[in-house]
Amino acid sequence: MPDTSSRSLRIFPSRRIRGTVTVPGDKSITHRALLLATLAEGESRLSGVLTGEDCLATIRACQALGAEIEFLNATTVRVKGRDRKLLAPAEPIDCGNSGTLMRLIAGILAGQPFSSCLIGDASLSRRPMARILVPLRQMGARIDAKGPGELPPLEIHGSQLHGIDYRLPLPSAQVKSCLLLAGLFASGVTRLQEPIPTRDHTERLLRHFGLWPIFDNGQLVVHGGVRLHGHDLFIPGDFSSAAFWIVAAAAFPGSELFVQGVGLNPSRTGLLKILLRMGATVKETIESCETEPYGTLEIRGERLRGTRIRGEEIAQVIDELPILAVAGALAQGETIIRDASELRVKESDRLAALAYNLRAFGVPVEELPDGLIIEGGHPLRAASVQSFGDHRIAMAFAILALAADGVSVIEDTACIATSYPGFEKDFESLTQSEIPGWGERAFRQIGHRWARWAKESLEDPAEARFPVVAIDGTAASGKTTVAQELARRLDFAYCSTGVLYRAMTWKLLQMGVDISNRFRVARAVGKIPMDCWIENHQLKIRVGDEDPSPYLRDPEVNANVSLVASIPAVRRYLLPLQRKLARQAPLVMEGRDIGTVVFPKTPYKFFLDADPLVRQERRRQQGETDLLLERDQKDRERKLAPLKPAHDAVILDTTRTTVNELVETILRHLKRKGMNLQ
Ligand code: C5P
Repeated sequence: MPDTSSRSLRIFPSRRIRGTVTVPGDKSITHRALLLATLAEGESRLSGVLTGEDCLATIRACQALGAEIEFLNATTVRVKGRDRKLLAPAEPIDCGNSGTLMRLIAGILAGQPFSSCLIGDASLSRRPMARILVPLRQMGARIDAKGPGELPPLEIHGSQLHGIDYRLPLPSAQVKSCLLLAGLFASGVTRLQEPIPTRDHTERLLRHFGLWPIFDNGQLVVHGGVRLHGHDLFIPGDFSSAAFWIVAAAAFPGSELFVQGVGLNPSRTGLLKILLRMGATVKETIESCETEPYGTLEIRGERLRGTRIRGEEIAQVIDELPILAVAGALAQGETIIRDASELRVKESDRLAALAYNLRAFGVPVEELPDGLIIEGGHPLRAASVQSFGDHRIAMAFAILALAADGVSVIEDTACIATSYPGFEKDFESLTQSEIPGWGERAFRQIGHRWARWAKESLEDPAEARFPVVAIDGTAASGKTTVAQELARRLDFAYCSTGVLYRAMTWKLLQMGVDISNRFRVARAVGKIPMDCWIENHQLKIRVGDEDPSPYLRDPEVNANVSLVASIPAVRRYLLPLQRKLARQAPLVMEGRDIGTVVFPKTPYKFFLDADPLVRQERRRQQGETDLLLERDQKDRERKLAPLKPAHDAVILDTTRTTVNELVETILRHLKRKGMNLQ
């Protein structure tokens, strides 16, 4: 649940992505479609246009060259093209933060009969332009890079270009596109060869606007002087924006995500191949194969394992490497990224930014000249990190922060608007904050007083981050009613741990496991995918795809739960699930061993008991078949985590007290122990 009041995001932990998302239009395609529609004769209606800052800069640039561009709705524009006859811009063209715009439009402007100037923001002014200047000059272009070492601004003195045969020294879709566009205004033929294939949007769109064919014998070929024809185009969702959700959903077990209308051009979806290798479950359905293929992705969360990403694969995932580094941090084992020195000259030095921020979250990482070695699977601590002015760094760490043990802050996130306007809204709808509705109050309340305890407990990752009030006691001693009311009064989440043991019992019975055989149970438990989390102040449980709640108080479950709860494998399985809840919200947690085993360090321990006859009568009135005295006996007698008060628990006899009296008593104790009650 990000806080968007300032230019920073405050991220609450949430290890589950659920829902359906349609991400904004593809940035690469939007830039190219606008430029080509400007060069074409006639009108083009472009729908699904990305209206992020980068593409707005392209719209302004096209207008400066004489294109008439009208918004028909929020994401549809009508472009009236210039049929190659561009106007000389009156002022320098501001490319903002967009390397794509500067490099592509330079190719167009180099061959015009007028001069022009390209400028950009501080980050763009540090990005290398020699890669386009060298081949453009071979074509006869006269361009001065005014910054040191061939950096922007670019002063372009229009001249007559001629076609060249050029083998790109490094894989770069921007250089390729720049030269293809320059080739349109050059005399003769321009032939390009790529060492490694890169995204092919420019080629596809040239075809869309009437240039056919342009692939010949392994070379890309454009003939100078050809006309382009206006054509309508639907721009699908940007796969690189979807990548943040895809990785989050793939890496958080229990997640389920549908991404609709997303571009599935194979030159862009290398990430999926890598995620599959890491153990992800992804289903791809292509719904249209016209100019740009698009469709739906379905992702289910799994525990991922580390991988190696290097060589040719790097070019296919160049924009996704920040979020892949995050995937590596969330996966078990080592993830190695090599051959990615190109990341050093992106919107930021992405390798340095990634290494710095990963360390802040507690991820062991080694920075190499051309990559990273990330040791995944470590518990993450909440952190405050910088975006380095880079949208993809900001979004990648917003995702990583979901797995931290408290509230994290990503600073300087205005840059997200360059590629993903609406990111925060989608973030809110896809993540289920594990502290829903807590808002400021709970945080103020726990703010200072808990800081020390929280810090101490952080040193032991098994311990709580938020305060826990432990309510243990015998069956039908009034734990549930008291704990629920107390949680309401404190504005804490209420959480019964008995339901976890009940859910496990129900599942074992459903699977037909002989629960009197603890070895069989131990083996079966390992196969049960149980998860729990806090939602709307309540504990939610899932066993695989099933919600066990309707069955938890079945007589069969009542009769068997204490036996199941006495099996060490079961207790070992459920212990971390219970502990993680205290990293999600302040809790009133009810059970048998909360004060003794689950949260022995909490200073707030209560143990409830009442006359056995009164307790039996309470159950009878609830209409339940439950041999509770037998359960108590089993619970007391088991070796592991037996039912007994912690040595520092406050023992309360509930035989003759009302719920309100009990809650008032507990509140008084909490106050005396230092809890900041308002
Ligand atoms: O609280 P509830 O009656 O739902 O608990 C059902 C059973 O689960 C208990 O009788 C006990 O055997 C087991 N349990 C446990 N440890 C807990 C909570 C419940 O062993 N913390």
